[in-house]
Amino acid sequence: MIELPEAIVISKQINETLIGKTIKSAIRGQTPHKFAFIGKHSDEEVSKILKGKKITKSWSNGNIILVQLDSDYLLSLGCGGERILYHKQDKTIPKKHQLLLEFNDQTYLTVTVSGWGEVRLIELENIDNHPHIQFNKIDPFSEEFTFKTFEELIQKIPEKKKCSAKKFSITDPGLRGIGNGVIQDIFFLSEIHPKREMKSLIKEEQKRLYQTIRNELHKMVTLGGRDSEKDIFDNFGKYKRIMHSKSVDTPCPICGILIKKQQYLGGTIYFCPSCQKIDR
Ligand SMILES: [Zn+2]
Repeated sequence: MIELPEAIVISKQINETLIGKTIKSAIRGQTPHKFAFIGKHSDEEVSKILKGKKITKSWSNGNIILVQLDSDYLLSLGCGGERILYHKQDKTIPKKHQLLLEFNDQTYLTVTVSGWGEVRLIELENIDNHPHIQFNKIDPFSEEFTFKTFEELIQKIPEKKKCSAKKFSITDPGLRGIGNGVIQDIFFLSEIHPKREMKSLIKEEQKRLYQTIRNELHKMVTLGGRDSEKDIFDNFGKYKRIMHSKSVDTPCPICGILIKKQQYLGGTIYFCPSCQKIDR
């Protein structure tokens, strides 16, 4: 799944590779996908609008990758389990795809949705109405994401409301672009159980969690994304995850106790029962 680090990596690669290329033809919906988020334009309209447009820049917002076309349209990608691939020749184009762009220099970009994902065309002026950009969540790379803000977000949790570390980080209030993937190592390295009540964190733990969020996200971006995700050149990221499906029942790298998994809040959590206590 594309999360914040991968969205940054992919938009950077698009900037380095696709800027200035003109779209010769665009096919969306070759293989219809129930959870491909396409927006208001039909596939036919997309083909018509994109033809002749030039890629002018790319940036990301949370887990969304935005690609600007001329000065008026945006392609919105990411947001899920997408493969976004650049092809120097047509041989490597996947049989099934949800978007195929052919550029006038005989190179290509394909997007294949697995699970769900964005292949939306929007007008640049409508960016503020994008339904999947998490404008209400704080961007952990923004300047406003200071320890003080983080602390305030914890203080804002209503007295009687339960709010686990996972819920706090992903959903309510949530951090922009953070999902059930990147958060696993962050919780492990900050020694916080995903089910731990956020309000029970002492200051030292809050600081550790905040600092780990910043450090690990930065590391993931620097290393080209996590080792479970591929970039537009079909290469896996170099950030080696610690907590994932294959680490279940293997010894914790810190204490040696076996790593456990559980279903929690619509996804699997991985944790060390000794290093990451639910209660203090
Ligand atoms: Zn451990």
